Amino acid sequence: MSLRGEVIDLDKRFVWHPYTDLDRWEGEEARLVAASCGGAWITDVDGRRYLDANGSWWVSSLGHRHPRLIEALTRQAGSLPHVALAGITHEPAARLAAELAQVAPGAGTAPSGEQLTRTFFSDDGSTSVEVALKLCAQYWAQNGRPQRTRFITLSGAFHGETIGSTSVGGVAEFREVFAPLLFEVVTVPSPAEENGWERAISAIEDALRTRGDQIAGVIVEPLLQGASGMQVYEEAFLRRVREATRAADTFLIADEVFTGLGRTGAMTACERAGVVPDVLCLAKALSGGLLPFAATLATTRIYEGFRGGRERAFNYGHSYCGNPLGAAVGREVLAVLRDEDVIARVQARAPKIEAAFREMAETLPGLERPRALGMMGAVDLGDRGYLAASGWKVYEAALRRGVVLRPLGSTVYIAPMLTLPDAELDLLLGVVRESIAEVVAARP
Ligand SMILES: *Cc1c(COP(=O)(O)O)cnc(C)c1O
Repeated sequence: MSLRGEVIDLDKRFVWHPYTDLDRWEGEEARLVAASCGGAWITDVDGRRYLDANGSWWVSSLGHRHPRLIEALTRQAGSLPHVALAGITHEPAARLAAELAQVAPGAGTAPSGEQLTRTFFSDDGSTSVEVALKLCAQYWAQNGRPQRTRFITLSGAFHGETIGSTSVGGVAEFREVFAPLLFEVVTVPSPAEENGWERAISAIEDALRTRGDQIAGVIVEPLLQGASGMQVYEEAFLRRVREATRAADTFLIADEVFTGLGRTGAMTACERAGVVPDVLCLAKALSGGLLPFAATLATTRIYEGFRGGRERAFNYGHSYCGNPLGAAVGREVLAVLRDEDVIARVQARAPKIEAAFREMAETLPGLERPRALGMMGAVDLGDRGYLAASGWKVYEAALRRGVVLRPLGSTVYIAPMLTLPDAELDLLLGVVRESIAEVVAARP
């Protein structure tokens, strides 16, 4: 049996894939069996190359197997691959925390208590959100506002997979089956709906006015709701949420697991909007597609609220908290962002992506709501929702052309590596267009 056949056989019998229709997967012919990757490309066991249109779920933002990241990882693995961060410290965690404090929104400019000076490390995007929620809840519990146990969340939000992060999520398909297990939240409309941000901000202002004494924080994906279909919204909304949370003296949590570290054409989406949150979550691109690693940044004020002895400590910490491998790679990611001038390159390419998606929506039948932000472009195929089928037809059409274009339901999008060379961006946009054209032409 070929390697390909053997892997597929074992896979079919033993592997359980994420977000995957099992019958469809097992019955499927074309299956990408990856053997290696580099830059924007994944190579399969037969040597066929595929362009990765979403940096493998948005993590490989500097390209697969970036040589500097591999070098940082192997160097670190040769000396100190892991020690617990309880009662011990090490250079990668200490230096990365200091460097994150410097690139955080408001660094050196916000009033001193409001700067994001402290980093709590964890494993992935979901845990970075768990940390954020628990930090806020415990802060209020021990700083005079114990009734503050509720979070305001946005419809259409995605914050991760754990029960806590699912509780603050707003995508119905991901919540429904677990609904009895989730904690209660105050959900407001998505600011990304057509003319929706004013409605969303009034709902937040209302909730803070009427039950502000119960609100521990407002959690948002700044400027771009990713997993619910790449929904982009106004910077003004984010600024108004900041004003409203300040006025109510409650916390703003910015989940930048997707938008952070250059994706929107700024270091963070918050920076782009001129907003300094109280808590900032980073993961995905933070470890450049090498290993799971996450950071939750908090203000000096929040940190100070945990002083005063053992019983006021934050009783939280994963086995791999502050893992030196992840921290070493995270430092190198920040260094590459700076040395390769990545953010300026995103800004330079963004107009091309925006124009390409707008052109598709204008010229191909049945396309709706073209949108783009930084190194992300998206368009809807008309039949909305996560389970809609035409996105998958585009996926198959693109795979035949050598591009992995995993859709979000009927939303076709690209979120490739931030430094994608121009020729490859042209190739990618061309295949997106051709694949959508093929699928819409075959519609009844
Ligand atoms: C992906 C994502 C998460 C969850 O991150 P994982 O690493 O998958 O746990 C949380 N928030 C946002 C905004 C995300 O895009």
